[in-house]
Amino acid sequence: MTALTQLDAGTLVARLTAGEVSAREVVDAHLARIAEIDGVVADGPVWAAAPADELGAEHTHAFLAVTAEAARAHADDIDIRRAAGEPLGPLAGVPLALKDVLTLRGVPTTCGSRILEGWVPPYDATVSQHLRRADVVVLGKTNMDEVAMGSSTENSAYGPSRNPWDLDRVPGGSSGGSATAVAGLLAPLAIGTDTGGSIRQPAALTGLVGAKPTYGTVSRYGLVAFASSLDQAGPFARTVEDAARLQAVIQAHDPRDSTSVPDPVPDLTAHLRDGVQGLRIGVVTELQGEGYEPGVAAAFAAALERFERLGATVVEVSLPHAPYGLPAYYLVAPSEASSNLARFDGVRYGLRVDAPTAEQMNAATRAAGFGPEVKRRIMIGTHALSSGYFDAYYLQASKVRTLIAEDFRAAFRSADVLVSPTSPAVAFGLGTKTADPLAMYLNDVATVPASLAGIPALSLPAGLAPAPDDSDTALPVGLQIMAPLLRDDLMFRVAWAFEQDLGFVPRPTGPRAVEVGR
Ligand code: GLN
Repeated sequence: MTALTQLDAGTLVARLTAGEVSAREVVDAHLARIAEIDGVVADGPVWAAAPADELGAEHTHAFLAVTAEAARAHADDIDIRRAAGEPLGPLAGVPLALKDVLTLRGVPTTCGSRILEGWVPPYDATVSQHLRRADVVVLGKTNMDEVAMGSSTENSAYGPSRNPWDLDRVPGGSSGGSATAVAGLLAPLAIGTDTGGSIRQPAALTGLVGAKPTYGTVSRYGLVAFASSLDQAGPFARTVEDAARLQAVIQAHDPRDSTSVPDPVPDLTAHLRDGVQGLRIGVVTELQGEGYEPGVAAAFAAALERFERLGATVVEVSLPHAPYGLPAYYLVAPSEASSNLARFDGVRYGLRVDAPTAEQMNAATRAAGFGPEVKRRIMIGTHALSSGYFDAYYLQASKVRTLIAEDFRAAFRSADVLVSPTSPAVAFGLGTKTADPLAMYLNDVATVPASLAGIPALSLPAGLAPAPDDSDTALPVGLQIMAPLLRDDLMFRVAWAFEQDLGFVPRPTGPRAVEVGR
């Protein structure tokens, strides 16, 4: 018999609607699995993750906090309302894992950092409100790289999450906890955030579908800011349809976010099944080749053949400035971060380290509260914005950003969507890139161009490739699909056709994988 934790959201909604299972049973099944494998102290109303030094190599560590009591109460409430014949939201009773960068009223938000320790937000993020309105049951808050800076979740102040495909490997980042939760069958859905790839890259490394919506279509109200002109929340799921349905739930104009776009967003599921016959799929010359692992390149080549078999035309397109995306991103994002993170001063939120003067208190708090990667970004960003260097760094990077957006506009005249590998590498071993920031940044080479242009982009599984360091281990490869602004519907439609033809939902297997039979 298939366990409840193995079912995707669409199947769960069907069974819940048919009365074959209750929301409470679904939530209890997921909580039981979390208690079993995630390394939480499963006791009391809110389950906390074990301290980093007590977590074992067998623990997935997707969650920082599990809101067990609230989740059970929410599920019971949904069951009562269903029995009474009341109208329910579109994902009623489906459990979800929420990245710890989005606020949930009354539940601590840490952003994977010590700087926010003890801060309990007095309000819900708009995304959290939409989830509640859809009757999604939030199970808890997921682990992440500190302030969403990183590509492996190893920058979390609370210890790394582990990839369900091989517990000695990273799940990607920064939304690694959300990816681990969905791939490890701890939740069928999760919300992550993507500034330069933090949904797409972990989705690729864990065999999931993960989407970054068009910038401005999902409210940033209640999303702790890293780089405000790039940050965007989006879905993780095991199927394209589940991801589209979750994105549809959170996408809406919000007057509380000044960058929220007023335009109506297209219906994401109406044309999902229309296929790719006659569409032009643009292969980006600059986002393949050198630096991409052979297994990734092979899976990508097979994906292009699949599109042709499905009746699409594969065309080569150029984004001449894409190679400058990575340096531009690593100036724009830290510059915005250096400004955004100034609010963590020991006065307003979370941690305070006392000292004789206010200035010494600020310095001591920030020295103790931020980890090394965050400090590096604050210094790079402050330098790039400083008088005398602004024109050479921040302004120049902003100009490059405009050129990249123009490259995309031109490319979309000859192709309907663009494709590339999501990540140059499959999941790598824990600790293998932590000593070299540049090696870590290179993971984002294919994802940052779409971020800088604000266009929608998703990653979905394109197959498996042998790990370069261990040919006995097969790991997922992600295919990235990028679409014009506000054409998230087209992105999902192309992804759905590809997924149906590929015909399998990748599940972790192998000697160091988590057990998925339950
Ligand atoms: N890995 C990138 C960074 O470290 C992207 C992070 C993100 O998208 N939040 O900045």
